[in-house]
Amino acid sequence: MAYDVCDLVDRSVAAETVIKYKYIVKIQMEAGHITEIFSSFQGEGPYAGKRQIFIRFAGCHFSCFYCDTSSARDPKPRFCNLLLLNKETYSKRNPLSTNAVIDCVKDLLTPDLHSISYTGGEPLTSHSFVKEIATEAKVVMHLKNFIETNGYSATAFASLADSKCFDFASIDIKLMSHRAVEEKDYENLYSNAMDCVKISADRGIETIVKIVVIRNTAVDEIEKLCDDLAGFNSRLKFVLQPVNVNITTQPHLHRAGIVPDIEELFKLSEIAGRILPDVMVLPQVHKFMRIP
Ligand code: SF4
Repeated sequence: MAYDVCDLVDRSVAAETVIKYKYIVKIQMEAGHITEIFSSFQGEGPYAGKRQIFIRFAGCHFSCFYCDTSSARDPKPRFCNLLLLNKETYSKRNPLSTNAVIDCVKDLLTPDLHSISYTGGEPLTSHSFVKEIATEAKVVMHLKNFIETNGYSATAFASLADSKCFDFASIDIKLMSHRAVEEKDYENLYSNAMDCVKISADRGIETIVKIVVIRNTAVDEIEKLCDDLAGFNSRLKFVLQPVNVNITTQPHLHRAGIVPDIEELFKLSEIAGRILPDVMVLPQVHKFMRIP
């Protein structure tokens, strides 16, 4: 639970407790919709293989054509699925309180835990809720926090970064060809995502930039993106992630052949490597392990 000490303006405000002269403690209890909570290995980027507790927040405004977590785009699922360490699953009715989420986290603690992953859907759509959970995890439980976001709102991201509760941020920058948003809105999306990267790097958060690569990704687009990133922080990690296609649930994408070939990946990696110091290419390894 997070506490916010504020100047007292009106002593009659309900649910606020006057504690001393001109100060009050306002008890903030956020609640929100979560799709699932589970323990697994990180499947993407430089921390692939690290054990995490994943909190998958509900809702995403985007419509990436390759999205494989479409169930998490529903902003108000009735239930949150909790997968326990003994493999039992059970459902909790949404919305969940911060305390309820923290109780789930406690049930999933393991000795090899690296961090809590705040993922989605899109966690920035629930940023106040995310911040309250992350504060509890960091300040009370002394855990590390890792946010995975599409960076659609620099303002929402800044409110998380300013909490000083996040150790890692993986920011997924969408390309125009991903069709995450309509063409007329792409510039705004790109600029917000870039601002998120800058805010993250400036606040000393370990920053990972991820680009999902589909077949025939424009070389110029990757080059420009890398140029734009080059001034931010030399320590940021840049990941090219070949798109994953699920043959069972996305047969149309499988038939369309959207997975890039190795020559394209070599080329894009070389272009990025000319501009940025820390470049890697990695598919989603958890898909090979058949784990969530
Ligand atoms: S941002 Fe992520 S969750 Fe949202 S539509 Fe794109 S791939 Fe799906």
